[in-house]
Amino acid sequence: MLEFDYPVYRPPSESYSLILQVSIGCSHNACTFCTMYKSKRYRQKTWSEIQQLIAETAKKYSRTRRIFLADGDALSLPTQTLIQTLESLYSSFPSLERVSIYGGPKDALNKTAAELKSLKEKGLNLVFLGIESGSNIILKEVKKGVSPQEMIEAGQKLKNAGLKLSATVISGLGGKMHWEKHAIETAKVVSAINPDYLASLTLVLQDGAPMLEKMERGEIQMLTPWEVLKETRLYIETLELSGCTYRSNHVSNYFSLSCVLNEEKEATLKKIDQYLADPHLKSLPVDNNRML
Ligand code: SF4
Repeated sequence: MLEFDYPVYRPPSESYSLILQVSIGCSHNACTFCTMYKSKRYRQKTWSEIQQLIAETAKKYSRTRRIFLADGDALSLPTQTLIQTLESLYSSFPSLERVSIYGGPKDALNKTAAELKSLKEKGLNLVFLGIESGSNIILKEVKKGVSPQEMIEAGQKLKNAGLKLSATVISGLGGKMHWEKHAIETAKVVSAINPDYLASLTLVLQDGAPMLEKMERGEIQMLTPWEVLKETRLYIETLELSGCTYRSNHVSNYFSLSCVLNEEKEATLKKIDQYLADPHLKSLPVDNNRML
């Protein structure tokens, strides 16, 4: 059994990957809706710790084909450490086909284009980036740490390096006050990046999230399932993408959607309109406990 510093998170699509913690926690760790790494102090593992981790893991799981590098933004590691890690992974796991990683926008901005390209050349395939929102007001409010323009630069930089990009946004993040702004501005930022994969999560506020206190004080009102769907419709309608695989099938979502954008946009909007016309759906209340 591998030893982990819990809690450990991975994207749903990495369910068959071996997870290696090369960093602990999240270097930003300030987003007000997120509790994932609040119990951890951010730390980068040293090359010697990573070397030992790879050696021990390779003995037990030598036939591994996919590896996911955790924690919250392992891309924050120095480029040289990541290059050494990738070289060691491909030589220690002979069947390895894919290495993916979580990266924050600041991690991408802090690396040069040449550094990102060298990571791609050493076998880093896929980066998971949390965009969350494209609205400046919302990004500031949730303390994401970057502006919409910086988010676009980060996403484009990763893509221009030849890395596959999987981006997530959070439906309902602007609450009732900013839902339209959230849908339209987020669609603009995502369209400027044109990620390979795009997922919608839906806002759930867990104990310890600073945003939960705001909600309890009535300063933010969460969207009902019907309102989330209405926001999603406007978001998808505004997106201008090409060949992007879109999914809304995370455990936080009220609805499941799956399509290729823009190619299947019209059919998807039609499906959403059918859901929106359901009177039962319109009466459903907010459920902030749906992930318990
Ligand atoms: S949302 Fe991502 S960047 Fe923000 S605190 Fe959580 S893990 Fe860190």
